[in-house]
Amino acid sequence: MALCRLCSKDRNLVKAHIVPEAFFRALRAGGEIPLLITNLRGHYPKRSQIGVYDQGILCEDCESKFSSVDSYGIDVFLNRFEELFQPINHQGTSVAFQARDIDQELLLRFLVATLWRASVSTQPYYDRVRLGPYESVAANAVSVPEQPVSGIFSAVLSCWTATEEHDYFTQVLMNPVREQWSGINAYRFYFGRIVAYIKVSNQQSPMPFRELALMNQQVLSVVTRDFDKSKDLSAMIGVAKASRAWRN
Ligand SMILES: [Zn+2]
Repeated sequence: MALCRLCSKDRNLVKAHIVPEAFFRALRAGGEIPLLITNLRGHYPKRSQIGVYDQGILCEDCESKFSSVDSYGIDVFLNRFEELFQPINHQGTSVAFQARDIDQELLLRFLVATLWRASVSTQPYYDRVRLGPYESVAANAVSVPEQPVSGIFSAVLSCWTATEEHDYFTQVLMNPVREQWSGINAYRFYFGRIVAYIKVSNQQSPMPFRELALMNQQVLSVVTRDFDKSKDLSAMIGVAKASRAWRN
């Protein structure tokens, strides 16, 4: 028995995923075991069969409260992305993906629910996520689903495009990190090819993040980023090489 972080009751705690297992499972589809990249000093990348879970945060009742937001996130980002989103090209280059019929509030609720789990988790993979005074506000996204998601949180999405050679790497899940947009705190989470930038602040997001944020657009736009030219690609290749050297 231990204290559940959501209901604060003394309960048997269950294995709870933070980023849902489906995103890790998708990586295994090609027979490969997912490579979890971590950029934390002193932590080597791990090959894991089931992704990163935490057995010290949620009781069974509370874990089940995440199932509707999780299945929606998995549906939109993973299982039905290509069916829901239309590619937008400009002069022959992919610039965005757009979709009309997305429940943007439910998708934001999924992101805040994931952020909360990462914040309460003691797994080193989620060490960079600490919400401090906003942790209890994030918990409300799951424990009080009839209330709107607090304006402290907003999110912008991007999607990697890559050449065939680097396509596998776009699926690799890196650990979430904290960053700043013009001095405003945000966290970057990886969901396969989709990257979510989640603002955590009572200040408004700067432009153009504000304009592109979930629930601010009728048509949801996911901005395309060229993976081959990104810093993430060189970081992943560097860590993958270090990992091979370390295992041999
Ligand atoms: Zn509980």
